[in-house]
Amino acid sequence: MSRADRVAERLAERGVDLLLVVDLVNLRYLTGFTGSNGMAVVGRDLRRFVTDFRYIEQAAAQVEGFDRELGPQDFITALGDGWPPGELRLGFEDDHVSVRRHARLRDVVPERIELVPAGGLVEELRAVKEPGEIERIRAAAALADAVYGTLHEQGLTGRTEREVAVALEHEMRRLGAEGPSFASIVASAERGAFPHAVPTDAVIPADALVTLDIGALLDGYCSDCTRTWATGELPDDLAAAYALVRRAQQEALDAVRPGPAGREVDAVARRIIDGAGHAEHFGHGLGHGVGLEIHEAPRLSRTAEAPLVAGHVVTVEPGVYLPGRGGVRIEDLVAVTADGHEVLNGLPKALRTVH
Ligand code: ZN
Ligand code: ZN
Repeated sequence: MSRADRVAERLAERGVDLLLVVDLVNLRYLTGFTGSNGMAVVGRDLRRFVTDFRYIEQAAAQVEGFDRELGPQDFITALGDGWPPGELRLGFEDDHVSVRRHARLRDVVPERIELVPAGGLVEELRAVKEPGEIERIRAAAALADAVYGTLHEQGLTGRTEREVAVALEHEMRRLGAEGPSFASIVASAERGAFPHAVPTDAVIPADALVTLDIGALLDGYCSDCTRTWATGELPDDLAAAYALVRRAQQEALDAVRPGPAGREVDAVARRIIDGAGHAEHFGHGLGHGVGLEIHEAPRLSRTAEAPLVAGHVVTVEPGVYLPGRGGVRIEDLVAVTADGHEVLNGLPKALRTVH
């Protein structure tokens, strides 16, 4: 069954006859189209794909199983006709359609067709990866592992965070990545206390912690991995924070399998970190899904009710952030399997000293 067929199967659950797909990531997932302008309509007996003149050749090569159409200059007016007869309910991705675009759609689409919010439907399918997708994510993770190997050889002390970030992103591209899957984080010393620190011109000192959070985009799929390395002797509080995060990360990882809700896996790490008196120093969720996008379903967080199922790919990334002192985060990328999980990256987690 094609991905579009699986969408068509689920339309009734959402009370719609058709789904209009405008989000480019969802469009890529459903049709294979990698261009920057296109849309699709999926129904039980309808597979309609529209793009503009720049992409019609590309669509012919990439998009199978859809009726391909060249849209007019004012792209959305293509939706003025081409609809099946009768009164219809057209689902749209309300999490991707702006208010302005919705008004335009209402103008263009015939009145007999009702517009119904139906966001998240394709994302739900995307959350459960096919074996070929897991292979792609594994390859992206292996590429990032290789970049970590280069960083380890080059060393950190005496370079600026920005130099390290630029060098690692260059290495990523040299190894075949389309680019980083998100802005690389290189956060040393007290800047490690900011979970989403931006690399600065600060020189990485000795005897500090350095958080490296990097991912590669390869063949459309993302990877995501964090390691925190020491650049020498650590003060006791930072060494203890590292040991704590490592234990929390390992125990949460061990809990990843089909069945538990995202919040239950989050709670495993949170209990350990809270129990050590660092509740207020772990302010983010435990992890997130990774695939065509760096952050996608499912979530591992305090409020995530959805259970894990085989085929999910999630990060497990607890952290402890000590203001003015430094931070630790350890992140693995994990595929949920029928009977447990498989870690897709391959880096050691014992504290590593890199000068
Ligand atoms: Zn990360
Ligand atoms: Zn992450």
